[in-house]
Amino acid sequence: MSIIGAETFKWEDADKRNNIMFRMPRNIRFNDNIVVREDEIAVFFRDGKVLAYIDRPDRYALTSINAPVVGPIVKLLSGVQQQAEVIYLQKRVFDGKFGSKQPYPFRDKEFGLVNLRVFGEFRYKISSPANFVNQFVGTLNFATSAEVEERIKEQVVILVYDVLGDMKNQGLGVADIASNLTTIEQVILSRSKDHFDLYGILIDKISGLYISLPEEVQKAVDTRSSMQVLGANYIQYQTGQAMREAAQNPSGGAAGAGVGVGAGIGMGWTMLDSMRQAQQVPPAAPPQATIQCPRCGAQNLATNKFCAECGSPLTGARTSKCPNCRADVPPGSKFCPSCGANISSTKKCGNCGADVPVTSKFCPECGKPL
Ligand SMILES: [Zn+2]
Ligand SMILES: [Zn+2]
Ligand SMILES: [Zn+2]
Repeated sequence: MSIIGAETFKWEDADKRNNIMFRMPRNIRFNDNIVVREDEIAVFFRDGKVLAYIDRPDRYALTSINAPVVGPIVKLLSGVQQQAEVIYLQKRVFDGKFGSKQPYPFRDKEFGLVNLRVFGEFRYKISSPANFVNQFVGTLNFATSAEVEERIKEQVVILVYDVLGDMKNQGLGVADIASNLTTIEQVILSRSKDHFDLYGILIDKISGLYISLPEEVQKAVDTRSSMQVLGANYIQYQTGQAMREAAQNPSGGAAGAGVGVGAGIGMGWTMLDSMRQAQQVPPAAPPQATIQCPRCGAQNLATNKFCAECGSPLTGARTSKCPNCRADVPPGSKFCPSCGANISSTKKCGNCGADVPVTSKFCPECGKPL
């Protein structure tokens, strides 16, 4: 039987979509009917708190005072205040994305105060209709799902910060974050129950966690971890880095085009190796010192003991060394054939006996004052 002025309340699909909550625009009265579907909960709310809720699908006539489900609700609506708000909630899970609006200052042992930003995804559903409505509608006076979701996201970010803070106290540093993201996700998830019970929310999944470091800190962390992988020291790393950049430069020849970062590192490293080998090759010998044969005047290598031309012993010819460059100077020479120093005007160092230019104040051999 139909009562005049009665209205049937239901959550229209057009209003539903991705909304976790819908607040009916007008109060429900004693005569009205309530439709509750499989995926919904209807909450009766008055004076800032939840009176009761229905989570079994059906069409309910609030005039059926003896019905087991609506009887208690109708009793609550009796007396002077014969009306209440109805708020519909969805039972299904929702996916949300969170991200920090303000950076989180993380005091790191190595890097000092580092501003972190966190991003990620979570899956949630309403676990307690009463807590949910009391918290969001009662305490915060939220009317829309967008407001609710914004609040949940803020709370997730706060939870992530709590977890990071606690893990930091247990020794987590910014350099460890990237390799521990899965662990951090698990800790956030396990902590979320206590954190969100109050809101009537259950978070059953945290995924895609990403924690970004300021660019310069990220570079330093990358550098450090690359060094650990390669077992290299920092200077070697930087040399390799410079070569990697050179290798990636399109004008850098064959190494340039199409070489990925990984290959670039390998390339730099190989080049670095060849460089190190090159350094191990003894420096190119200076122009060979020669010595003039005292007998035939031929020029011989200073290391020769006998003249290659006449076979005379050359040892006796090595009578002097240039006091300036230490080259062997043929006996009787006035000037060093190697550096042009004036040989005739030399004196002997009193300490080591070296030939020293007369103008020198200190022996170039032993450093004693002359
Ligand atoms: Zn000779
Ligand atoms: Zn010389
Ligand atoms: Zn000396």
